[in-house]
Amino acid sequence: MQHELQTKFRERFGGPANLYRAPGRVNLIGEHTDYNQGFVMPVAIDLSCWVAIGPRDDRKLVIYSEDVDATAEADLDGEAVRPTRTWSDYPIGVAVLLQQAGHRLRGANLYIRGEVPLGSGLSSSAALEVSVGYALLETSGQDIDLVQLALLCQRAENEFVGARCGIMDQFTACHGQAGRALMLDCRSLDYRLLPLPDHVSLIICNTMVKHELASNEYNLRRFECEESVRRLAKVLPDVHALRDVTVKQLEENRGRLTPVLYQRARHIVTENERVQAAAVALQAGNAGAFGELMGESHRSLRDDYQVSCSELDVLVEIASRQPGVYGARMTGGGFGGCTINLVASEHSAEFKKQVAYAYHSATGHEPRLYLCQASQGVQSLWASQRDGK
Ligand code: ADP
Ligand code: MG
Repeated sequence: MQHELQTKFRERFGGPANLYRAPGRVNLIGEHTDYNQGFVMPVAIDLSCWVAIGPRDDRKLVIYSEDVDATAEADLDGEAVRPTRTWSDYPIGVAVLLQQAGHRLRGANLYIRGEVPLGSGLSSSAALEVSVGYALLETSGQDIDLVQLALLCQRAENEFVGARCGIMDQFTACHGQAGRALMLDCRSLDYRLLPLPDHVSLIICNTMVKHELASNEYNLRRFECEESVRRLAKVLPDVHALRDVTVKQLEENRGRLTPVLYQRARHIVTENERVQAAAVALQAGNAGAFGELMGESHRSLRDDYQVSCSELDVLVEIASRQPGVYGARMTGGGFGGCTINLVASEHSAEFKKQVAYAYHSATGHEPRLYLCQASQGVQSLWASQRDGK
């Protein structure tokens, strides 16, 4: 792969290239908690965005992506670069934000290949942003602070692309580690790396559906959470986000919320507790306890937060009755996209076969399944070649 990408780069741009990669991610537990300043537990996966990069003599960025078979250009000295509402806003937005933060970038040619499926909830966007950001900084001889890089990439997606995302995706693309899950406090950005048991596999199943209402409902959920905080803060002045509310406080103040607001808040408050319990389970190597929490998380998202859909529910239900399964749940924003499954490794091949068959029979959709490894965050492959690693 590395050699092939360098060849492709040379054919398109001429000259040698350095290689970088940053991973997609899957969230094991902690859904919709990020914008409530709570806890999430993602894993960086072994599907990456790859960037081959070579410096230019001028101050232009020329970016080609194989996945969309298109080239975009930006002048780093030009008048304020504007978003075009296309794929190139992701990499160019990162360059713009890096420069605004005081990093003077060199002109460069970039050749991009993404392995993370686009728009499936596995965060191809953060993989693209972080790999490009890291590659641009290193090519320009700048120091790299991974927390700053994650924050700048998130800002690029919020401000330049115009997508309202939390910090989880970019943080995971920067800080993931092989064999580890990452428990992140979305308020303080403190994180812990937790060991995944050796004998379990992570299997992502893509429903292959994406329902239209996803983005409206997402905005509505954010509003519902903010409204709950406003109401609760009137009597609980230390509450600034649902992260600050305990189950006991929520029950005591249930009357201040409408039934729907109460349900939404209950999901967030209990989900934060589940992430903490899940961390304890992982630390103890207890896949069974972890899997139970995944099941509870799914039911809470389905019944209280109401962001699941029939395809996700069917897929989780089919997965949960397979031999060797510890836990299954929807992952990502909901209304389609993927489920994540924790499966005893010796059962993983059979699991994939049976689940694909049963889901197809039930829904008519051909699911896509990925057996993943928890992998390392962004890295320079050039450095490992150079240093003989
Ligand atoms: P997700 O991050 O879950 O894959 P998003 O909607 O956040 O979904 O981001 C997907 C978008 O990111 C794509 O539609 C495309 O514009 C852009 N993108 C991601 N990876 C690539 C790539 N390798 N080449 C070009 N565009 C990409
Ligand atoms: Mg994304």
